[in-house]
Amino acid sequence: MSEGFAQIKEQLFKERHELLQEVSNSYEVCRDLGQDGVPDIGDMSSVAYSRDVLFNVSETQRQRINDIDVALQQIEKGEYGICMSCGEGISPRRMEVRPFSRYCIECKTDIEKLGA
Ligand SMILES: [Zn+2]
Repeated sequence: MSEGFAQIKEQLFKERHELLQEVSNSYEVCRDLGQDGVPDIGDMSSVAYSRDVLFNVSETQRQRINDIDVALQQIEKGEYGICMSCGEGISPRRMEVRPFSRYCIECKTDIEKLGA
């Protein structure tokens, strides 16, 4: 079992590293867009659009990094694969598809229904 965790940890660290790189790349693109002199109105809306897209992308990535951090903490505490809501084990199949699941499928469905 601990061997399996080592593999998951490695995978999570790798993904975290890649996400961090993507986020910093996004910031660089944003900065470049902002340094493009004074664009005409047409350009400005496309710049604003690109910024929005990049912002949303990096927001999603930040969220994922946070999910990965939580998963890593759970591995450390020996709580990995346990639902944070009901305390039941999350199905290995689900953990495989989404290695940083915090909730079992039942609780996740309930949470989504509540809009949280
Ligand atoms: Zn649950």
